[in-house]
Amino acid sequence: MKTLKHLFDRNLAWANEIKKSDPDFFSQLSKQQAPEYLWIGCSDSRVPANQIVNLPPGEIFVHRNIANVVVHTDLNCLSVIHFAVEVLKVKHIIVCGHYGCGGIKAAMEDTDHGLIDNWLRHIKDVSRFNAQALEEAKPEDRQNLLCEFNVIEQVRNVCSTSVIQSAWKNGANLSVHGWVYSIENGIIKDLNTSMSSHEQLLEANSAH
Ligand SMILES: [Zn+2]
Repeated sequence: MKTLKHLFDRNLAWANEIKKSDPDFFSQLSKQQAPEYLWIGCSDSRVPANQIVNLPPGEIFVHRNIANVVVHTDLNCLSVIHFAVEVLKVKHIIVCGHYGCGGIKAAMEDTDHGLIDNWLRHIKDVSRFNAQALEEAKPEDRQNLLCEFNVIEQVRNVCSTSVIQSAWKNGANLSVHGWVYSIENGIIKDLNTSMSSHEQLLEANSAH
């Protein structure tokens, strides 16, 4: 008996459906990928990159982890960014967080979650950097506000990587954006934190 047969059945039906409307879809796509976007998002099952911007396979290069965190020493994330920028030559990097993020919620709690607390430490730092604004917000708004602050911080982290710094130095046409997605209505909000040069990063860092 085939394990998870229903998933293989669904896969076959999906592939057949695509081939029906575009017989060359897979043979064309198998030759190369040329996505314009790198998506750095949360692992949450409700926030699938391609589906929420309605793009087919081949259009987005994706990295996901809990609470869409970009850590300066995370070789996995850095390798994805490096490959996307240096080899695929993506034009846009999108850090997309989401309201109601379980990782953000857990980072706000003062309880033991085990191993993941080491990862959530990075979000606790974001919370500390923005302590005053969070303190001044209504208690019921704080979690979603931290989701936004986290995205803004991760955009800066992406921009500060050696990969992006050297791409900009070499004149690459590359922008980094911060978005937040609502799992309640399916709508993405632009946090207007986009950066496309080293100067913009310096400006943002000096403002905060
Ligand atoms: Zn999440």
